Amino acid sequence: MTAPRRSEAGSGARGIGFTSQRTRDRMIGRLREKGIADEAVLGAMALVPRHLFVEEALAHRAYEDRALPIGFDQTISQPFVVARMIEVLRCGKNLGRVLEIGTGCGYQAAVLAQLAHEVYSMERIAGMLEKARANLRRMRISNLRLVHGDGARGLPEAAPFDAVILAAAAVHIPEALLPQIAVGGRIIAPLGTSSQTLCLIERKASGYSEKWLEAVRFVPLRVGKQ
Ligand code: SAH
Repeated sequence: MTAPRRSEAGSGARGIGFTSQRTRDRMIGRLREKGIADEAVLGAMALVPRHLFVEEALAHRAYEDRALPIGFDQTISQPFVVARMIEVLRCGKNLGRVLEIGTGCGYQAAVLAQLAHEVYSMERIAGMLEKARANLRRMRISNLRLVHGDGARGLPEAAPFDAVILAAAAVHIPEALLPQIAVGGRIIAPLGTSSQTLCLIERKASGYSEKWLEAVRFVPLRVGKQ
């Protein structure tokens, strides 16, 4: 027996109902109502078909503002949190070289790739990364590199980065990441254990500054790759 083929990106993007551009635009409207003001971020999220990054059985819920399971005990981040983190990271300026830690299904990486010159995204679970690769293949993105590895170590061979975004919660910013951001660069991360707060670190010529933002909930950053 042959397995049914998943719909292609093009037909999904043009389709009717829960996968249509109109459904995606409604999600953008809700993000705007919730306070996302960066039009570049909203524009990028209007372009990326989130339903292609979740299981087909959950595709009808892809444009709700919630996290959803993506296998391997992981979740795709809530659209509002993706928008908020990237908005804070951009601070109205173009993103240059970006490192994302925690590729998951690849959704946020696809959004970042619309807004940055170059994106590196690291994932510790090999099977998860393969899933992301398959999801992203349908989008033809040329400025995104996926790397299998422990993101807590960063990616010194591609550093310095203008922006680093952690998509998994740590107790502290992993030490190895700090010297990998450029002067003027930023890191945004959910920090904490059972409950977390978004923390923005900025590297200045004189050192690092930190700013605490709102409460969030993320899966934990784990050590090593598997
Ligand atoms: N960015 C995703 C969400 C990722 S969920 C989105 O677009 O929705 C968090 C991911 O971080 C999981 O896939 C998890 O395996 C990964 N992760 C956890 N610890 C990690 C580490 N040390 N290095 C790289 N990836 C890690």
